[in-house]
Amino acid sequence: ALANESALAIFVSAATEAADAPAIKYFDGVLTYGEINSAADALAASLIADGFAPGDRLALYVQNDPAFVIGLVAAWKAGGAAVAVNPMNRQRELAYLLEDSGAVALLALNELYDDVAREVIAEGTTAVRTVVTVSALDGQSRDDRRVLGGQTSDVPAGTSSLTAIIAEHDGSAVRSAAAPTADDLAVLTYTSGTTGKPKGALNTHGNLAFNAQTYRDWMGLTGDDVVLGVAPLFHITGLVGHVMIAALLRAPLVLTHRFAPDVMVEAIREHRPTFTVGAITAYIALADSGGAEAGDFASLRALYSGGAPIAPAVADRLERVFGAYIHNIYGLTETNSPSHAVPFGVRAPVDAESGALSVGVPVFNTVVRVIDDNGDDVPVGEVGEFATSGPQVVPGYWNRPEATAESMPGGELRTGDVGFMDTDGWFYLVDRKKDMINASGYKVWPREVEDVLYGHPAVAEAAVVGVPDEYRGETVKAFVSLRPGASATGEEIVEFCKAQMAAYKYPRSVEIIAELPKTATGKVLRRTLRDEVIARS
Ligand code: ATP
Repeated sequence: ALANESALAIFVSAATEAADAPAIKYFDGVLTYGEINSAADALAASLIADGFAPGDRLALYVQNDPAFVIGLVAAWKAGGAAVAVNPMNRQRELAYLLEDSGAVALLALNELYDDVAREVIAEGTTAVRTVVTVSALDGQSRDDRRVLGGQTSDVPAGTSSLTAIIAEHDGSAVRSAAAPTADDLAVLTYTSGTTGKPKGALNTHGNLAFNAQTYRDWMGLTGDDVVLGVAPLFHITGLVGHVMIAALLRAPLVLTHRFAPDVMVEAIREHRPTFTVGAITAYIALADSGGAEAGDFASLRALYSGGAPIAPAVADRLERVFGAYIHNIYGLTETNSPSHAVPFGVRAPVDAESGALSVGVPVFNTVVRVIDDNGDDVPVGEVGEFATSGPQVVPGYWNRPEATAESMPGGELRTGDVGFMDTDGWFYLVDRKKDMINASGYKVWPREVEDVLYGHPAVAEAAVVGVPDEYRGETVKAFVSLRPGASATGEEIVEFCKAQMAAYKYPRSVEIIAELPKTATGKVLRRTLRDEVIARS
């Protein structure tokens, strides 16, 4: 299995055996595997010349641009690891990530450097001593077709230009650093920090390589596929489900700087991608964007959604829009994207009682126990916490031995998600343990209520939270956004739910808002909504 390989080896063999194959399609520009490799060589050589030592970290603070992939491979070639930074992070968050990771070098978009990073680095609290900047729009015009364009005029003072580093490189490969092994750290990906400070998950080369193989073999992908980059690359879904899988297949990855539904529809029309993986909210946004014409989505044949629950009613509607079934996958940052998947071509069952769509079955070499609070297995069919072990589970968190021991006792990951397995071995997620609502002593799982809300024809997106209530302890409240052109009142939607569920479960109030707050990965932020309600009262 590829778990014994390094992620770098996957790139290097693509570059040597398929040097001229297109690796990235970015607006009108195309970069081949050979070009990515030599650009990464150039950056690695420049980092090493600046004192980057084996084991050092390079932080990547860019959008879904070719520079992300070049920076990632360069960090590995220089003998170190990358730190994947959310480009939405501002000063406080970036400072924390740079300090926590101890990154010595930073690759940033010009405007992110100017607006955010410059000030953070000037504070002197980080270990960053090399800054390389790159212009995001470089790939967008036909003149810039070569490698990230030739513009060097707007390079921020005190930084080096990636474009110039690439142009000046003499073409020699980087030989000074030892090749990484499967157990070496490849990337630090940070948890979003909904509970406590963000923690850096130690994604190793073997973790990344193994789950790239999972994507290939479970999702029926081949070298003829074209990968569409929907998920952010800094998140594990984009890192493995876009960058790594494309390299393993030696297939092109279509990038669009960041997720904007209309721009993405245009990219789909032009590059005819066949496969993607992203949050279900991204599919909803594409379906409702209004920019698509008949046939635009026809090339998409292998579609996957992970990171958030899929309501069965939404799955049906989207299947009609895309003309392809959207397969569910489940995993965490700590499992390098999937631990469970619905194999390509198989339709996941829906649990009759809870209405949940299965998240699939554990992928190969992966063992998932459903356990009680003592860590003992619960009987088949009963609800407990998922505890996962396998080659994709990270060995721990960066510099956090206590958190590692708590989350991964004996190497088995306590996911914080509760669910069950049916007698056929299909897994169903009930919800996140911490999102359970306690209404008059009854357990209410937001996902089940959201699934019902999604069945209402006017509802585009739904989020259910428990809000403090003097009488019941907590009461169920829903927030929904409406589909373009649809109309409904909150009271109507309350009645719609009331007719379909037990009295203790249905939302006592449904508030209609223009858009639900989401993470950069497209996950609806229930907690933000809950906090807003509490702040208002
Ligand atoms: P943090 O851990 O910092 O709070 P996060 O939750 O965004 O951040 P991720 O690792 O991105 O961290 O998300 C993993 C979680 O996403 C899982 O624990 C699970 O609750 C949810 N999830 C993933 N896939 C699915 C799915 N197919 N259906 C339902 N929920 C899913």
